[in-house]
Amino acid sequence: MSKFAKIIPALVISASILLSGCGSKVEPEKNNSAQNTIQSTKPTDNQGSSTPVPQGNDTNARTATPKPSIDLSKVKPNETGKIMVVMFHNFVESFTPTKYDNGEYTTTFDEFRKLLQTLYDKNYRLVNVNDYLNNNISVPAGCIPMMFTFDDGTSGQFNLVEEGGKLVANKQSAVGIMEEFNKTHPDFGLKGTFYVNLGLGTFEGKGTVNERLKYLIDQGFEIGNHTLTHINLREVKTAEKVLQEVGGNHKKMLELVPDYKLGSLALPFGNATKDLQGYVAKGEFEGVSYENRAIMEVGWDPTYSPVSKKFNPLSTHRVRASGIKPVDTDLAWWLKNLSVGEQYVSDGDPNTVTVPKSREEAVDKNKLNGKQLVVY
Ligand SMILES: [Zn+2]
Repeated sequence: MSKFAKIIPALVISASILLSGCGSKVEPEKNNSAQNTIQSTKPTDNQGSSTPVPQGNDTNARTATPKPSIDLSKVKPNETGKIMVVMFHNFVESFTPTKYDNGEYTTTFDEFRKLLQTLYDKNYRLVNVNDYLNNNISVPAGCIPMMFTFDDGTSGQFNLVEEGGKLVANKQSAVGIMEEFNKTHPDFGLKGTFYVNLGLGTFEGKGTVNERLKYLIDQGFEIGNHTLTHINLREVKTAEKVLQEVGGNHKKMLELVPDYKLGSLALPFGNATKDLQGYVAKGEFEGVSYENRAIMEVGWDPTYSPVSKKFNPLSTHRVRASGIKPVDTDLAWWLKNLSVGEQYVSDGDPNTVTVPKSREEAVDKNKLNGKQLVVY
């Protein structure tokens, strides 16, 4: 019996090393390091119960001191490297160009399915915007964090359908596709931030707007602000109007999902004039105050690590998801043109910030947020 007790955890450990992806780079040296690998594959939040987490008889694994257990020269972590925040818009079954859409902002469900696999195979793993802002990036060693953002609350991104008397995500929607992918690749992460305009129709389909938002939040997704009516802030002339559009959307969210605060905003077109930008970040509307810790811009390039001296969340650059019509600086372009050396490569431990000696200068030590800096 004691023999079995030893064999089973060992099998589970090997399985989790394979599952942690970026796996060829993770080389456990001792028993200890295998245990640390387990910790790094443990889901941090709502990744769903399908994530295989080793259970029981190995309590030491949970309490072991998280010492770097990776071969730094092989994994080559660089936690000051750049991170891609991908900006998605429309998802459709099949595409026909119109006067308003030549396909630059639209992708098909099939292409999105393929994209998830491509990103997974290239070692990308999802984190949420809040994890990024809190410098709490938890992906396995050798993996590259990535954020998904979805603008406009379109039903191709997500809509509810009735199945066996329950409301579930339509399998023909980005969220439905991500849920399916998560069943076979739980370590990819079921994460993303949806920037919505609550003054307009949001995720049209079954259920109430409240049920739709709640569903996403319960799955571990985040909701962000995209103004009440998708206004062009560049054309707004008064502070009152900014407060109404940004604060009004924030207030509406609180009414729909009590206690849920929209903590970041994606600009619908461009930013407000200089004198009004402060109100986009922070303000008060009808007695409710709001603060956007990040402002997502319309995209063209990767953004900075949260410990970089250049980190400026109020101007977070995003990379446009590739549409039917490819354009330079879209995601497919960056996947070809951004070298691994320029990107954030994780050390697998959210409590340490590991950088090569040559990148030490790029670290803003005030932004470590209590984490230990490891230079190699
Ligand atoms: Zn938009």
